[in-house]
Amino acid sequence: MNQGVKVTGMILSATPIGEYDKRLVILTKEKGKISAFAKGARRQNSPMMGTTNPFSFGEFLLYEGRTSYNVMQANISNYFMELTTDFEGAYYGFYFMEIADYYTKEYNDEREMLKLLYQTMRALSSGKIGRELVRYIFELKSLVVNGEAPEVFRCANCGVDDRKMVFSSKNHGIICSECVGIAPDGIRVSSATVYTLQYIVSSTIEKLYTFTVSEEVLGELKNVMKQYTSIQFDKKFKSLEILEMCLE
Ligand SMILES: [Zn+2]
Repeated sequence: MNQGVKVTGMILSATPIGEYDKRLVILTKEKGKISAFAKGARRQNSPMMGTTNPFSFGEFLLYEGRTSYNVMQANISNYFMELTTDFEGAYYGFYFMEIADYYTKEYNDEREMLKLLYQTMRALSSGKIGRELVRYIFELKSLVVNGEAPEVFRCANCGVDDRKMVFSSKNHGIICSECVGIAPDGIRVSSATVYTLQYIVSSTIEKLYTFTVSEEVLGELKNVMKQYTSIQFDKKFKSLEILEMCLE
């Protein structure tokens, strides 16, 4: 009767359950974020042993039980193996998975977030763009996908398009030199940084990871994203704490 259902997605996390099983959280194209059990996936001879790990992207054949899904088969097309052998790279990946987990829901349309996550993991594993830049791009774009984009095209207070701007998290965007009094938290940003923020907010996901920036812009992006994520993410991400310890 139950023929099973095929979904495409990425494994966000895999938790050991009992002696041999795993509980997976998968971000799927068809059903949003789902939980699924992979029975026997931790047995040495299980074909699912190597295919049910975080970052694995591919097709999953699910059997819908009364209260949960069971994974019957996983056909992985990209494991992002480059990252699993490198502690720092892996923790960037875990951090992105945690953010995606935090922002997505079951049976919600999460195709944009899945696409963003996939392109981000590709950028991270290819190494063409610095990891730090990949991180700030992903942090900002995940907020945009979730409908929390800051105003970066004109002053968030008066609407003027001024050259001298500060970024103010409390005002959710850039503030011009006339209005700067209302932004005591304002961070000075160069026009190159404002342009970079505009690009990240407005670019398609496919073209997101196609640029690099100067050290100066990277430093300003860091300050902006540190302040903005501390206000927007009302959760401490465990993987970020570990990543920051290893980057120190
Ligand atoms: Zn203004």
